[in-house]
Amino acid sequence: MNHTLAIIKPDATAGGAAGKIIAHLESAGFRVRALRMLTMTTAQARSFYYVHRERPFFASLVAFMTSGPCIPMALEAPDAVAKLRREIGATDPAAAAEGTVRRLYAESKERNAIHGSDSDDNARREIGFFFAGEELLR
Ligand code: UDP
Ligand code: MG
Repeated sequence: MNHTLAIIKPDATAGGAAGKIIAHLESAGFRVRALRMLTMTTAQARSFYYVHRERPFFASLVAFMTSGPCIPMALEAPDAVAKLRREIGATDPAAAAEGTVRRLYAESKERNAIHGSDSDDNARREIGFFFAGEELLR
């Protein structure tokens, strides 16, 4: 599949890194196909990260993700899901490779600047979570 979902998280948006991250992704070969800015509600964040509901970091993650505006984007490139995961780097920026978005812009394992879908099925679900069909991919 050629599409995936990225979210510039509230730490990066508040820190003024959103433009640099979008430029980074465009330079890496992604086309931005849909984009919005919103502050997620608690219900939205809990639903988006439902798979992690039993993890010890879940409540803190939801609080962080609702703490300010974030920027979800549908991105297009060949092999988009794997390509975005390479470009964003490991969850913990201290472990992320040189030159990745998280290494460059993330503060901590939780406040790690960007989300990237981890499978084609999740990319479809996550793109649909933020964008209606008519906004997409014309
Ligand atoms: N997270 C956290 N502590 C952890 C693991 C994850 O706060 O020990 C947060 C972090 O913001 C991460 C998100 O929960 O991006 C989702 O975790 P996941 O394991 O799916 O990492 P990702 O796919 O984002 O690299
Ligand atoms: Mg994940």
